[in-house]
Amino acid sequence: MDIVKLSALEIREKILNKELSATQVVKAHLDRIDEIDKDINAFISINKEEALKAAEQVDEKIKNGEDLGSLAGIPIALKDNIVTRGTKTTCGSKMLEDFMSPYDARVVEMIKSQDGIIIGKTNMDEFAMGSSNERSYFGPTKNPVNTKLVPGGSSGGSAAAVKANEVPLALGTDTGGSIRQPAAYCDLVGIKPSYGLVSRYGVVPLANTLDAVGVFGKNVTDAALMLSAIAGYDEKDSTSYENSIDLVFEKGLEPIEYIKGMKIGIPKEIYLDEVDKRLKDHMDKVIKIFESLGASVEEISLPHLKYGLATYHVIATAEISSNMARFDGLRYGHRAKEYSSLDELYTNSRTEAFGDEVKRRILMGTYYLSMGHGRDYYEKALKMRTLIIDDFNKAFKDYDIILTPTSPILPFELGKLKDEPLTKDLTGIFTAPVNLAGLCAMSIPCGYIDGLPVGLQIIGDRFKENNIIKAGLGFEGGMKNGI
Ligand code: GLN
Repeated sequence: MDIVKLSALEIREKILNKELSATQVVKAHLDRIDEIDKDINAFISINKEEALKAAEQVDEKIKNGEDLGSLAGIPIALKDNIVTRGTKTTCGSKMLEDFMSPYDARVVEMIKSQDGIIIGKTNMDEFAMGSSNERSYFGPTKNPVNTKLVPGGSSGGSAAAVKANEVPLALGTDTGGSIRQPAAYCDLVGIKPSYGLVSRYGVVPLANTLDAVGVFGKNVTDAALMLSAIAGYDEKDSTSYENSIDLVFEKGLEPIEYIKGMKIGIPKEIYLDEVDKRLKDHMDKVIKIFESLGASVEEISLPHLKYGLATYHVIATAEISSNMARFDGLRYGHRAKEYSSLDELYTNSRTEAFGDEVKRRILMGTYYLSMGHGRDYYEKALKMRTLIIDDFNKAFKDYDIILTPTSPILPFELGKLKDEPLTKDLTGIFTAPVNLAGLCAMSIPCGYIDGLPVGLQIIGDRFKENNIIKAGLGFEGGMKNGI
């Protein structure tokens, strides 16, 4: 049996029925990391000893006949902007190269309480700013589907780790698409939950009103299993959702039973000039699958969708400029060795330790918030955000889910868009509006075009995760059955 090829659910079942021990499972994944990570660069740090110790504890519990949590013995990787006590949290930046958090993020506590095993921390675009994982201080991550390609970003390390069978499950963060786009590029399932469903306590913020912690898995069931373990109210996060939802992920139904009767909207605005023409035909095939499974599919209009990315850009950079102020060389992070005044200490520390993209966003965000420009940019963006939210609210009165391609372009080669930052940013045109409106969405594999994986985005209303999970389960089954 090739342990690293098993799904998370299979691993859990085999550990619970004693076919495998948690120690065997963890060792197999650590060996896989040793074998392949030099080529992929998915990890920034590995928790070898702690992971083996945690596995022993799970095995001990099994021996003693104790109850185990939903993640029993499953190896899990965390994006390196989720703080962990005992392992450094770098955010992919020189600024936090040696930073050790004194506490665990809430999601880390939840994983541990469900007997999940944290294997290590994954590579990312610096401070989660990016769409290709080429902007990490620790070097780019490669896409295991084809190592010439980028894995997408900014949670590209987590996506690559799952795709390369280094772990069956991983967490990422998604502010404008950073889980869904790498999931699409690495041919995986990725879920960005509704804003507030998963605690952000202990997650280094990019843009607080948009950030969500979410999951990567090889299939919908695994992703839903991971999500259900980290969803829930947290009093330490003031934006946490107070009601709980029971996520469904029962297997075994026929695809049609998940999808029959579902009402699906396809925004007519998705075929913008920026969208790869090959995606249109592909989407038509995808729609036929949903129809053949008994869904009713109609064209809808989201008239403000086309302003989503510009709105995201202004709001996110404004929040970024204020969040980044905490890295001042005094409280934590890199401190310049040479300075002759307090101002110089700030300036030199930040100049030395932030990469170009971080600096670019701090400058733009500060400009959008500055006196005289706040009205022209920031306030306008807030108004547009409301119009975008209204568009979605109207659509969700009549439809259960909305479908779009996850990314307007297919995975590209490393270095190819180096001098085209705007093209890279454009990959968020269908994902960023979802964050602006606080909705939930999944990217799910929907075949290949010319050898490149394609992701389908399934968007659901706030806290209607069950709709996207059911649609995902049905579609996944439909694809497998070759409908
Ligand atoms: N590509 C987007 C950006 O660079 C997404 C970021 C994210 O979701 N963390 O802003």
